[in-house]
Amino acid sequence: MAQVTRTIKLKFLNLNKVKQQLFADMLAENTRLANELLAMPYMERREMTTAKVRTSLKSALANQAIRHTISATGRKVKQYKKLPVEINKQNWKLEKRGDTYSISFPTIQGVKRVPIDVAFHHWELVCQQLLIGEAQKGSVKLIFHRRQWYAYMSVTVDVPQLTQTQNRIGCDRGQNQIAVVAPALGFGKFFSGQETKHRRRQFQKRRECLQKAKKFRALKRWDKKEKRWMEAVNHTVSRRIVRFAEFHTADVVIEDLEGCRQTMKQKKVNRQDAGESRQSWAYFSLEMKLNYKLALVGLKLIKRPAPYTSKSCSTCGTIGNRQRHDFNCPHGHYHNSDLNAAHNLAQWDGNSCSLDLQRVGSAMDATDSENGWFGNAPNSMNFLPVRVDN
Ligand SMILES: [Zn+2]
Repeated sequence: MAQVTRTIKLKFLNLNKVKQQLFADMLAENTRLANELLAMPYMERREMTTAKVRTSLKSALANQAIRHTISATGRKVKQYKKLPVEINKQNWKLEKRGDTYSISFPTIQGVKRVPIDVAFHHWELVCQQLLIGEAQKGSVKLIFHRRQWYAYMSVTVDVPQLTQTQNRIGCDRGQNQIAVVAPALGFGKFFSGQETKHRRRQFQKRRECLQKAKKFRALKRWDKKEKRWMEAVNHTVSRRIVRFAEFHTADVVIEDLEGCRQTMKQKKVNRQDAGESRQSWAYFSLEMKLNYKLALVGLKLIKRPAPYTSKSCSTCGTIGNRQRHDFNCPHGHYHNSDLNAAHNLAQWDGNSCSLDLQRVGSAMDATDSENGWFGNAPNSMNFLPVRVDN
């Protein structure tokens, strides 16, 4: 049975100074121990046991540090600035007393039970699954982030059986609209990109300033901030798309954007403008999030190579003319261009776009004519119908 593993990030509730200090000490000791181990040759490190190392950490934690330094990721590291304390799945326990959840785990001073803040409803559901044993525990990491301590809890759940459905929802991604989702017929849902565009330009502006002033440390922090913000937007958008798909009981179809950086040509002006650039938005991360979130509700994500989704009319299938937000078909159908693409994705079956068409498509991409067809000038009125009315 398929499974989904995710990490939920839970803040420790009202940590007092003593506990904060305790966690900080554990982090420092864990880092020191890991660095001491890394200084040894690998073969010697492999022979290490908790009995042989001198540390104030409890053996469960020390063992985890040793394991980390001989793991595939740990082997590549020369030295750690910080290595968060990791508690493996046998050594921590989730409890619920009254309304508060807490986890207990070994620290420097024996096993402690620390209350955690389960702020969101959907995290509470995961916690309940853990308590009744429907979900499997992974490890817990203690992370210090922005003056707060968090428990990063890895949880694995079984995915419900795939819902057998013929319904499809198309999802078109872009800049003006981060995503547009629509069923084959009927109303769609827009996720506007106006605000994100503005925010991305802001990020770019500050980035350039910092670069010019050679403030590289601040630059790195700024980049991380942008990344976090982008992830948060993607989480929200993907969650809402999944809700929409659940409402329609439909699988979601998206364009296969792989290689789009090469084929989707953009003007240099647009590419350099952070608000417009296709290269800097994390489409792949949106795709990953959609994938696992859909799996959690028993639906699936279908990727489809679709070179004509934004060029053909969703009413009659003819190649039409797209100008920014407007799509006009030679037969007089008008659509919003993004919604049109989403409708197309939802309607087309896997083989509606034949291989021949795809080959022509790649030839067209190579000549870099966005709207042209067989060398016709863009905006030409001589359209070649690809699919006649059904
Ligand atoms: Zn049409």
